Amino acid sequence: MLVKCPKCSKYYGEKAFIPGKNFYCSCGQKVLFEPEQIFSHLAKICKDYELKVEEEKINQIRNLADKIVSLIFDNTSTKLDIDIQKQKLKALIDQLSPDKMDEYALIYEPRFNRLWEQFRKSPET
Ligand SMILES: [Zn+2]
Repeated sequence: MLVKCPKCSKYYGEKAFIPGKNFYCSCGQKVLFEPEQIFSHLAKICKDYELKVEEEKINQIRNLADKIVSLIFDNTSTKLDIDIQKQKLKALIDQLSPDKMDEYALIYEPRFNRLWEQFRKSPET
């Protein structure tokens, strides 16, 4: 998106404009960024920020889920250790994205159980 200087017709990219700050062309003319453009620019910043926050939440959940998987693979960890981490994961999902609790029941729990069956099931457990 380009904005034209009304005086000398020089073009500037949207990155040259910082919301809330005046922008002056190299010829000295104050160049206004169109309000609609500013709003769409701000909306994009907000969206990027939300995506970042969302990504951060997903990473935290994923990291803990990965930790549980590695505990299942690690023969020195007990079923209790794993159950504690599972409770932590549930609490984390509930805290960060309550709308994703279904995901825990549908994706994580069956996955952990399947891995447990596959790698740890032995006559004494
Ligand atoms: Zn100019």
